[in-house]
Amino acid sequence: MIFRRGRTCASPTIAQLEREVLFYLQELFVEMFFVETRHGVSLRRKFLCEIFKKAKFCVSAMLIYNIFMLKKYQFINQKYWEENLSRKDWYLRLAKDFKKYIIKPEIDEGQTSGNRRSDLRKIKREIYYIVNEFYKKNKLYLGKSGENWDKERKLIKYIVLHHTSSSQNIFLSMLSIIQMIRLYIGRYLVKDMKPKVYGQPLWSNHFRRGKMVFFAYHWLIRSDGSAQRLLQDNQIGWHAGRWPINCASIAICFSGDYENKMPDKKMLDAAVKIIRENYPQVKKKNILGHGETRPKPTSCPGKYLGHIKKYILERL
Ligand SMILES: [Zn+2]
Repeated sequence: MIFRRGRTCASPTIAQLEREVLFYLQELFVEMFFVETRHGVSLRRKFLCEIFKKAKFCVSAMLIYNIFMLKKYQFINQKYWEENLSRKDWYLRLAKDFKKYIIKPEIDEGQTSGNRRSDLRKIKREIYYIVNEFYKKNKLYLGKSGENWDKERKLIKYIVLHHTSSSQNIFLSMLSIIQMIRLYIGRYLVKDMKPKVYGQPLWSNHFRRGKMVFFAYHWLIRSDGSAQRLLQDNQIGWHAGRWPINCASIAICFSGDYENKMPDKKMLDAAVKIIRENYPQVKKKNILGHGETRPKPTSCPGKYLGHIKKYILERL
């Protein structure tokens, strides 16, 4: 084996290394099984210690393998992105890329083949990831002051339901970054719209634990039925695709991809609880899916919207 002492091997390929690591893990499990059956429980601890040592070695080998053999970014040019993201005018420098891959790609995606579409998705994911890395380390230049985007807030008349269309356990910083790029950068790249903010440092006017956030939703419901508040009721979420609705609505979002399945009952119950406790004034007919508020068609929050609404309305 490559990892065993005393044996040299001329630069193994990634596939070889992968095979070796898998083989090593397999050996460990086989060993563990025989220890259990042959020697009984009393010797288990001693042998487990041995195995743990080997496992530690194996994990270190995997880490080294990951660091040296795998590139973190396979679809974007890491150097190009890092260089531009560290500048003050980062989103202007990267405007073309944001537009091409994230802000306007839906039209292109519809016309492209399956492979191209999946590549686009991977590029998008890597862009979100690299921007989020900068954001988490406070290396992303953001505004120190700016437009009060909440000044047009109206009384709450609508509830709009969404899904994140992502993995269920999406991190909040990632959600914030996705919405920053799609919504805020999208808006800050428009030249002829009032208020004029083109090219200015990004400013959402919303903060969480001292950090600027770009959430579009007021509530995020997780798969276990717990709910996180992302925006306060007096803050406008940029979620509905129509500004007048944004001004007078609350966005409740199910965390996960519900394009083709119903959210869990626990999640729907959480939505009922939020509406009943916080927004009893909203008329039932004004509880809508994102797809019902947007001028451009969207399937959000998935094809079971009718069932979701029925479930919620029956329990209010
Ligand atoms: Zn939506």
